[in-house]
Amino acid sequence: MTGTPTILDRPSPNHDARPDGTSVDILLLHYTGMQSADAALDRLTDGQAKVSAHYLIAEDGSCWRLVEEERRAWHAGVASWGGATDINARSIGIELVNPGHQFGYRPFPALQMDSLTALCRDILARHPIQPARVLGHSDVAPERKEDPGELFDWASLAKCGVGLWPEPGPTADPDMTFEDAMRFLAHIGYAAPRTPVMTGAARNALLAFQRRWLPSDLCGALTPETAARIRDVHAALTSA
Ligand SMILES: [Zn+2]
Repeated sequence: MTGTPTILDRPSPNHDARPDGTSVDILLLHYTGMQSADAALDRLTDGQAKVSAHYLIAEDGSCWRLVEEERRAWHAGVASWGGATDINARSIGIELVNPGHQFGYRPFPALQMDSLTALCRDILARHPIQPARVLGHSDVAPERKEDPGELFDWASLAKCGVGLWPEPGPTADPDMTFEDAMRFLAHIGYAAPRTPVMTGAARNALLAFQRRWLPSDLCGALTPETAARIRDVHAALTSA
């Protein structure tokens, strides 16, 4: 475990005031999906682009602050969690440099993960963010986003005290109905439709869940393994 990373300031103009009375209760992780850290820094600080995040972490662990935490950075876009939709208003956003699925998705290096872990621990010490509310962009925008993606190591982050990672249970669950699965996903926070049969939105919710919690089963179907994982994660997150 490393200490607090050295943070370089590279102010972005892409932010505004958080609405009065909004407290920060979500920590949201992204990948940049661009070919280099420089390209991502340029875009996230380009006033024309209208996008930003509070922090950017390169693959070598270098960390930039783009937006002050008290301001609303523009990183989540159209999103929801637990029925709330202004995710930018209530979150701190961290971008991880990675080419992403479009340009050659690859594992997040240890130096980058160490820097991220230290930064997250600092943020969690400053803001009352529950472990169950450390989220990925795909969790809050399953119709549009895949980041930080199935190679992101949520388990090791949780071992360092950032977010939750219930260990997968040993049993498959062949009996969970599709409707129950959607209800569990919605209760966890996902924008899952209340439907007894597969729909496009249901498939995207299942894919988002699998990408985050069971990447070995990233198929968009309600398999017995995914059903068991939904049950485990639901139990862990709704009691946390
Ligand atoms: Zn993102």
